[in-house]
Amino acid sequence: MSLIPDDVIEQVREAADIVGIIGEHVELKRTGSDFRAPCPFHGGTHRNFAVIPRKGMFYCFVCHAGGDVFTFFMKKLGMDYPTAVREVARQAGITIPERGPTGPDPREPLYSAVAAAADWFARQLRESPEAQVARDYLATRQLDLETVQPLGLGYAPRSKAFLDAMKGLGVRDEVLLEAGLLAKREDGTLAPRFRGRLLFPIHDVRARVVGFGGRILGEGEPKYLNSPDTPIFHKGKLLYNLHVAKHAMRKAERAILVEGYFDVLRLSLAGIEEVVAPLGTGLTPEQAQLVKHHAPHVILLYDSDEPGLRATFRAGDELLREGLRVSVATLPAGEDPDTLGQKKGVAGLEEILKDAVDVLERKIQILDRKGFFGTLPGRRRALDRLLPTIRAAKDPITRELYISRAAEAAGVRKDVLEREAGMRDAGSGMRPSPTAHPASPISHPALPASAEKAVVLLMLEGEPWKSRVAEVVDAEELEFPPYRAVFESVADDAVLALDDTSARAYELLKAEGLGGRDPNEMYELAVNWLEARRLERQMERLDDQLPFETPDRQASLLAEKRRVFDELRKRYPRYKIAKRRRGAPGT
Ligand SMILES: [Zn+2]
Repeated sequence: MSLIPDDVIEQVREAADIVGIIGEHVELKRTGSDFRAPCPFHGGTHRNFAVIPRKGMFYCFVCHAGGDVFTFFMKKLGMDYPTAVREVARQAGITIPERGPTGPDPREPLYSAVAAAADWFARQLRESPEAQVARDYLATRQLDLETVQPLGLGYAPRSKAFLDAMKGLGVRDEVLLEAGLLAKREDGTLAPRFRGRLLFPIHDVRARVVGFGGRILGEGEPKYLNSPDTPIFHKGKLLYNLHVAKHAMRKAERAILVEGYFDVLRLSLAGIEEVVAPLGTGLTPEQAQLVKHHAPHVILLYDSDEPGLRATFRAGDELLREGLRVSVATLPAGEDPDTLGQKKGVAGLEEILKDAVDVLERKIQILDRKGFFGTLPGRRRALDRLLPTIRAAKDPITRELYISRAAEAAGVRKDVLEREAGMRDAGSGMRPSPTAHPASPISHPALPASAEKAVVLLMLEGEPWKSRVAEVVDAEELEFPPYRAVFESVADDAVLALDDTSARAYELLKAEGLGGRDPNEMYELAVNWLEARRLERQMERLDDQLPFETPDRQASLLAEKRRVFDELRKRYPRYKIAKRRRGAPGT
């Protein structure tokens, strides 16, 4: 057997899932950030044997057996060192090269810098007088210091003490800059990125700290600030708590997705381990893939208000696209998982999770409650809201079930719905659907980009326009993706979550403003235009549907079409003329 290079051994040790590996030999139970079991070496019955994943170690407080993941195999199974390394490598999915070292990871200084910072921030939270504000804040959320310490929470002071501390540890400023822990001011001076914040360390899947999420304490913006993207921290490709949750996710065969760091804390402190959260933004395809890697089923546990529901269904579609099974758990109004956990404890949380329903079913429930299924136009609009979810379902059986269920709920024939779900999906020359994937605004020049723009400009004016617009316009009606994103973010008060393109659109629109135009007139024109487009689309769909219906149904569809047409003319008599002449009103 050839010699295994040191750095490869280190790589295997880092990649090894020590809890998962030892957990196959003894039954581990979490205690804080560690895991406990009866000792397999001295054969005890009390849980004196600890696995400490942060340190990659195990230790028995009675017989003092201890070591790393390799030592465990050597002691437990009598392997020699290279065999143990190869066995762990095999389980971690790492190929050991037969010869030649691979050289150190050039990102190593970044990992060390972030780890040193995490230790320092954690000590501030424990010891610094200034951190009293953070300790008090934790107390208001019913979290004591001892509980959160093992999770690595920290405090970033307002002063520049962090700079001196890192200097004292010999961490260079350039490394801290690259790690996103320092920011360069315009005058060239350096300042700590996090100041006056409670910090949540964010780990990669190998349990290395790679960045932080910081909650402001007291007044200030933004409420949450994350590390910027760095060579080791990619906001859209990490999930908070995945390094811990992945074991439980495999075991429970499910993941619970929540919105915030405190939600994760509350659930995992309640003993519900399989919980993860995106890092303050909507769920990305990469994050959905990460979840899929560890569990086949996801329960979404977001707030039940309008922004929460929007985020729920957006995340749901993303997860369905990965072929996952998706359920939605519904919290009582005004509660989040953290507050509910505080009030009702683990039993209250379990009950909510137990009552989770399939994501499409949840959509149908909500549409039903809003009375969508009472009228034919309502049913049509309901279908438009169900279609994205149906189309997102990558798993063919799920998709089939969804089509049946949606057809039943909306009272349409299954084959018609099938055709609609399928054809739009294939993009086979049909007109773009308002609910289909974002299309370039250039591909359909007849679209009223200016009416869409007008409603976004009004949203940006603040109240009362924001509420007035949000009341009558759904974000999904905006077909130009950056406008839709800006609209949603303003409606949700989540402007910081915008991606680069949309953030640029936001800035441009903000700079443009109303330009002296009368907001009342803009509102009237733009909202009417959107309503007219909605009605026109409805007529087109009725046309699509007609040839496939029984004569009876055809008659009622024609009557419906006449009604929609009348409404359209009433609502906006110059609609057709205006569209032909100058594109759109509201400019
Ligand atoms: Zn022991």
